[in-house]
Order: sequence, then structure tokens, then C-alpha cells
Amino acid sequence: MEKTAYRLYVLDLDGTVYRGSEVIPFAAEVINQLVDRGSLVRYFTNNSAARPKVVAEKLVEMGVPCEPSWVYGTGPLAARVCLSKGYKSVYVVGELEFKETLQDAGVPLNAVDEADCVVVGVCRTFTYQILDRASAFVRGGAELVVTNRDATYPIEGGREQPGAGSIVAAVEMASGVSVTELGKPQTGLLDWIFADTGVGPAETLVVGDRYETDIQCGLNAGCDVRLVLTGVTEHAVEGVPSVADLCSLL
Ligand SMILES: [Mg+2]
Repeated sequence: MEKTAYRLYVLDLDGTVYRGSEVIPFAAEVINQLVDRGSLVRYFTNNSAARPKVVAEKLVEMGVPCEPSWVYGTGPLAARVCLSKGYKSVYVVGELEFKETLQDAGVPLNAVDEADCVVVGVCRTFTYQILDRASAFVRGGAELVVTNRDATYPIEGGREQPGAGSIVAAVEMASGVSVTELGKPQTGLLDWIFADTGVGPAETLVVGDRYETDIQCGLNAGCDVRLVLTGVTEHAVEGVPSVADLCSLL
């Protein structure tokens, strides 16, 4: 029997709380109520360009309660991994925000002629030249670290744009190396949230709009899950608790 209230709610962002610059209907009201009744709310995103401070400002502007420390993304997670492995020279395929996240954390990004690690996230300025350089580094022995494999992400007006998975596929194909991603459906972000909050999977509900990342991640960690139909998934998935929108969490 599933619970009706949880100590911790971990919510995906794109397609669950907002679409681009538009807040999803009822998200602000529902999340405010969850916080008011004493539950913890945390946000997790595969978007490597999402910076916790910027995301928190955007959410607060939308009327959604958030502090920077409530936001867990693959950008900061990649920084933790790079620092723990002690790479000397990291080449980044990704957005400026992702590079800043890594740099602010102290990851050395001075890779011009050589790199011992190539990190790949979503990259809207991706070119053949970037692909050439990244794959040459990996073929030369650099380790490949990839943030996530989301094929697309939802934006305003019901559209979707190519996600990091599309870029990762190109780099893997060109370098002949395939690796495990850091983000959802792997449980790295959730494990980090559990460690920070002291709440475990049995008291946590994971909510997201994508079955193969958000929901699979929650299931992999042993959490209850809800699939919302406000993002990339339009129809309920058999065997997965699905809800039209966040209102059903109350
Ligand atoms: Mg999403």
C-alpha cells in the first residue's frame, strides 16, 4: 500500500515544474502546500547547464519555493566526480553555464592540446570541430564522463529540443567508447540528496515526466514514484503510477 504523504519529495524540473520559462499549472500551489505541511522538497535535473542559484531564482520568481541547496543537477555532480578522480586537464563539451559550474568547483579546464578527461553534457553550440577534438582525446586515453542520455528536453509551446543524449551518442560513436551516465536513471543524484537530507528511499516520493530517467531512477533507488503527464510523456505507462499533474500529490 503506497503512502499518501512523504517526508521527502524529489521533483524533476523540465516538464514537471516548468517548461522553459513557463511554470506548469498548479506546480507553485502544490509545492507551497507540501512545504507548508512540513515535507522536504528537493529538485533534481539531468540538465548539466542548470546552476542551482539560477534555478532557485527562476523558481522563486514563478512562485515556487526553492533555495539553491534544494537543487541537484548533473553539472555539480560532474564537478564532484572530476574532483574525486583528480583529473589534471578536463575538456568540456557543454554550455557556458556547465563550464562555469565545473570551474567554480575547482575542476581544471585548461585542455587545449591534451586532456585526461572529456566531460559531455548538453551543448547547443556543438560542432564537427568539437566532436573531432573530444573524440581524439578519448581515443588518446582520456576518460569519458557523460552527464545524461536524455534524447530531448521539453521547451515552451509544447516543443522539444535535442538533449545531451544526442551529443553523447555522437561522441561515443566517434571515439568508440561507451560509458555509464552520471544522471538519471543512475541513482547518483538521489544518493546525494539522501545523504544531505538524512531521509531514505522508503520515505521519499520521486516525481518526473520521463519514465526512462526520472521514474526508472526512483525505482532503481527503491522509492515510490509518480509519472506526471505535463512533460514529454503524454499517456500513462502501464504498471507505473501516473498522474495528470502535481495536484494529485496532495
Ligand atoms: Mg523532465
